[in-house]
Amino acid sequence: MPKIFNNLLSFKGGVHPKEYKYLTSSLPFEKIPTPSKIILPLSQNIGAPSTPIVNKKDEVFAGQLIATQNGPISAPIYSPVSGNVLSIGIEDTVSSFTKESITIKSNENLEMELFPKLDLNNISDKEICKRVQMAGIVGLGGAAFPTYFKLTPPKDKIIDYVILNGCECEPYLTRDYRLMIERPKDLIAGLKLIMKALNLEKGAIGIEDNKQDAIDVLQNLVKDDNSIKIFSLKTKYPQGAEKMLIKAILNREVPPGKLPFDVGVAIQNIGTAIAIYEAVYLGMPLISASLTVSGLGIKTPKNLIVPIGTPLIDILEYCGGIMEDAKRVVVGGPMMGITQHNLNAPIMKATSGILVLTEKEINQFDETNCLRCGKCIEVCPVNLTPTKLARFSQLGRISEAEENGIFNCMECGTCAYVCPANIPLVQWIAFGKKKLSLAKKAV
Ligand code: SF4
Ligand code: SF4
Repeated sequence: MPKIFNNLLSFKGGVHPKEYKYLTSSLPFEKIPTPSKIILPLSQNIGAPSTPIVNKKDEVFAGQLIATQNGPISAPIYSPVSGNVLSIGIEDTVSSFTKESITIKSNENLEMELFPKLDLNNISDKEICKRVQMAGIVGLGGAAFPTYFKLTPPKDKIIDYVILNGCECEPYLTRDYRLMIERPKDLIAGLKLIMKALNLEKGAIGIEDNKQDAIDVLQNLVKDDNSIKIFSLKTKYPQGAEKMLIKAILNREVPPGKLPFDVGVAIQNIGTAIAIYEAVYLGMPLISASLTVSGLGIKTPKNLIVPIGTPLIDILEYCGGIMEDAKRVVVGGPMMGITQHNLNAPIMKATSGILVLTEKEINQFDETNCLRCGKCIEVCPVNLTPTKLARFSQLGRISEAEENGIFNCMECGTCAYVCPANIPLVQWIAFGKKKLSLAKKAV
């Protein structure tokens, strides 16, 4: 039976931005030295912020629980370093909002307390979910939704498939690619744990066909295992968006306003599967992030393993510093990432990349009026009319934006990427969505 599925199904629209993955794709992960200071925002996931359980001046050790889960959609936080709590207060974060954070001055002690060992031969679905919850794991593909919540879907949702998202369709980023080729066994073990937690017999990994060696390595590992299929998918942005991935692999359509669960699918990121493996097999809480540091504006691009809470500046300095012609630092990929204004802000659990971009890489042209070319409509993978939605948002006509499906926009940035007038379509749409949500809450 063939085990690599060259699935020609893709999705309407999408774009092929210049990849720049060559800058880091051959670079193995390196661990950076412990930074002198760690800043841990209490809100690093979708849902409620965690509740701090340490005080200023307290001594903490690496792996210690310092903030607890606060409600059903929340996650605990552990200290990645040993040291003393310097402060608990408001700090800048990479999300462009300030957040209450615990700042820890680290010391040289590298010892770490792990969770108790589990009986891996007899582990139950409940034990896996409990361990994932305890470890503070959130979706590491960017959304940062608490993972245990996704592993315990409502009883009325019948899930039959789990898909690991190995597309990594954002240009520059090679974090997931490196995890796939450096840790394929851990990845498959993580996928098996997810399948067991959800009582599923079918799992898949979807990978864009620009990562053929990752496809080959994983295919070789599962060649005798009929429960897992590897799908080679067309390289196209945003192939890694959940709805696009489900369409490409299973030919199922997630209706507007619905979730993967509604079509029987659970999706997890490559990094999340590795974090689940580490929590269950090694007893590790989520205290470090694997990420790509890239762009023509950084002296030495790298793939790194970094303690969560490390300030951006420490990471950039470890990579040799930024070039004179660097113009912008972005956290995440260039399509959906966030431009940074304070390099002292710390990386968070779901940070997958830091880009330092030069003028050459940034769209240099000023915004002009809409040319009515229709390109944004052609490429929108979910059949929206971005130009109209942006205009309604700009004019405050938010109910018309809602009627035209603004909440179906996944903010992939594809429309803005192709717009020859450089209209910040996605920012306007995001603004409109926020305004509408606030208006709904106020009712
Ligand atoms: S309207 Fe939204 S979903 Fe459509 S291309 Fe633009 S950002 Fe992506
Ligand atoms: S791509 Fe830009 S210029 Fe063309 S129709 Fe859309 S908003 Fe207007």
